Amino acid sequence: MRLQYDDIDEAFRAELVDWLDANVPDRDLLESPRLSSAHLPDWARAWQRTLFDAGWLVPGWTPEYGGRNATATQQMIYFEELSKRGIPRTLNPQALGIIAPSIRDFGTDEQRERFVLPTLRAEISWCLGMSEPGAGSDLASLTTRAVLDGDDFVVNGQKVWTSGAHHADWCLCFVRTDPDVPKHKGISALIVDMTTPGVECRPFPELTEPDFCDFNEVFFTDARVPRANLLGALHQGWPITQGSLAHERAMLWIDYAHLIQRAVQAMQALADRVGPDGRRLGDDAHFRDAVASFHVDAVALTAMGYRGFSKFMKGRSSPEHSLLKLFGSESVQQCLLAATEFLGADALDRDHAGPRMWREGSWLIQYLRSFSGTIPGGTSEIQRNIIAERVLGLPR
Ligand SMILES: Cc1cc2nc3c(=O)[nH]c(=O)nc-3n(C[C@H](O)[C@H](O)[C@H](O)COP(=O)(O)OP(=O)(O)OC[C@H]3O[C@@H](n4cnc5c(N)ncnc54)[C@H](O)[C@@H]3O)c2cc1C
Repeated sequence: MRLQYDDIDEAFRAELVDWLDANVPDRDLLESPRLSSAHLPDWARAWQRTLFDAGWLVPGWTPEYGGRNATATQQMIYFEELSKRGIPRTLNPQALGIIAPSIRDFGTDEQRERFVLPTLRAEISWCLGMSEPGAGSDLASLTTRAVLDGDDFVVNGQKVWTSGAHHADWCLCFVRTDPDVPKHKGISALIVDMTTPGVECRPFPELTEPDFCDFNEVFFTDARVPRANLLGALHQGWPITQGSLAHERAMLWIDYAHLIQRAVQAMQALADRVGPDGRRLGDDAHFRDAVASFHVDAVALTAMGYRGFSKFMKGRSSPEHSLLKLFGSESVQQCLLAATEFLGADALDRDHAGPRMWREGSWLIQYLRSFSGTIPGGTSEIQRNIIAERVLGLPR
């Protein structure tokens, strides 16, 4: 399924496709092992810099930030083409997707100059310090404390699940600066140098892949952060947590639709395999049914995505973002779970690799990894709460 685009937008697509064909790094590099989501090997820095220099890293941004003022439709085309080819824009997604736009929108001129371009050019890497042991879905309950002392904030507390913290140069960290007001009102955002004395990262391995160690606990013990590194106004960190991502959120479904299609293709390729009951999978009506039904999910998601995008373009708020996130992330998961169940013990076998969704691994590993779609950015339960309250009008 594809929308009708006008000549100008099709010319934009053609220019992008030509450029990608000529410049995309080798598959081997794109698929080479990574250490964390803030680890930027030389080839990844060079690739992000190449995109930036050509105006293809953030095409919707203004030229002063390396963009080309692409319209929302053109940005959708851009994400479609990258997603279709499985090409990442960056290996440090929290920096590009959340932190750089937050500093652009909420930072001082000095902060923009110091951080935004170096981030876009992959000269520095970032982690995002939001979640804490007692504050995940209910982020506003965060307790990491920052107290002004002269020209510095003194920070004490703990973050958790901080992706890539042990490889990041900087952290955008949300802290409580006023404990005496309602909880959303006493939060501030600090830009923290990860080499600051009193900042300690304790990485912990993932269940699915011990070599890719992304998660960290980050402890702050009397860590001094210059007041100049306050992002936005004091106690006004909450709007920053809500992000500057309206455009990109409106397009997240594109990745999910392609992930489902990739998983469906990989399932189709299993048809000749023999299942645990000794029968060829392709001869099992349940298997064929499942493959068809996941294909329909991908098409439905795409149709819903275009509808949400069209409302977004007309400036109408819509519940589609929550619906799309929930439906997209859960459909990917259901598809991987179904394949795992059809395969039985073979799903554990790395030699029968699953679809290359995020990184390589067996079907079971791919299924376990799919939880990285249904937890961050609002868990599935939280999305259901939003849909219940804002779409169905149910009581809180
Ligand atoms: C891959 C990945 C990367 C991440 N990276 C980062 C990062 O870089 N920085 C960072 O700060 N955090 C990061 N996180 C953490 C993520 O933001 C939190 O896991 C998420 O917000 C959920 O919080 P929690 O884990 O504390 O779970 P909780 O909020 O404690 O929830 C536990 C369970 O209760 C359910 N629940 C909670 N509240 C409600 C409710 N009101 N109604 C119904 N059910 C509810 C949840 O759905 C969940 O099933 C990452 C998480 C993952 C999986």
